[in-house]
Amino acid sequence: MRDSGDGLRDLYQEVIFDHNRNPRNFHVMEDASDHANGFNHLCGDQLTVFVKVADGVVQDVSFIGHGCAISKASASLMTEAVRGMPVDEVEALFENIHAMLTEAHPDCDLGKLEALSGVREFPSRVKCATLAWHTLHNAITHAGDMAVTE
Ligand code: ZN
Repeated sequence: MRDSGDGLRDLYQEVIFDHNRNPRNFHVMEDASDHANGFNHLCGDQLTVFVKVADGVVQDVSFIGHGCAISKASASLMTEAVRGMPVDEVEALFENIHAMLTEAHPDCDLGKLEALSGVREFPSRVKCATLAWHTLHNAITHAGDMAVTE
């Protein structure tokens, strides 16, 4: 047994269900400064992430698309987490998210985003959880229009 316990696990599942059912910031942003498309062909998840960046800060972020509960909840949680955040902090957060999803004992406190940590036990779903983050990264860095998780 992991020491997180069933109570915490239930809470995590509740967060995922909630954000999947009522995704936050789920709309096209007409005045976005950048956007990028992401596609996880393993699962069929497809996202478009919109950002408005000014003075090195993410002023606004939104997304549209369709996919599994994990991909949608992750994108929704992401939009809440990164709004108002300096771009370099977003990049650092992305590193921490990736560590949380792939390493046994990540050295970071990610608050609500830790609801995604259960994905760690299902390696095939990690790409679902990271898709939004890869796509956001591409939107911010203009690294290319299409993010593909592999
Ligand atoms: Zn998926």
